[in-house]
Amino acid sequence: MANRREFTAATRKAALKRSNMRCEAVGEWYGLGPGQRCHAGLAHGVEYDHIILDANSKDNSLENCAAVCVKCHRYKTAHHDTPTAAKTVAQSLMGMKTRVKVKIPQPPKQPRQQTKMPLPPRTLFQEKLP
Ligand SMILES: [Zn+2]
Repeated sequence: MANRREFTAATRKAALKRSNMRCEAVGEWYGLGPGQRCHAGLAHGVEYDHIILDANSKDNSLENCAAVCVKCHRYKTAHHDTPTAAKTVAQSLMGMKTRVKVKIPQPPKQPRQQTKMPLPPRTLFQEKLP
């Protein structure tokens, strides 16, 4: 849990108060519709999410803190907080697709016919006749 920059206790408390014990997750980042808020009750579990991803922001202010339910936090973590891992998976999947070799039947090779005509004997030296 505490393996990266976290909000202070005061910020968490303020975020929870602001949320009215309802999940503050909004929008597609949390698997919701655009502009849709989750509103799930937080009585049984609350997590604090950096609205702007932690990797890109050192902002631990209340404005960047969302009190969200476990489900929303899990969704966002799985889909957005690890973009590098997701990219790697996508690339490896694409790599597998392109690596599939399609065997195109080739016509049997024709034995090459000898078309060379025997060369006439060359006269290398011509005797000069007086
Ligand atoms: Zn939620």
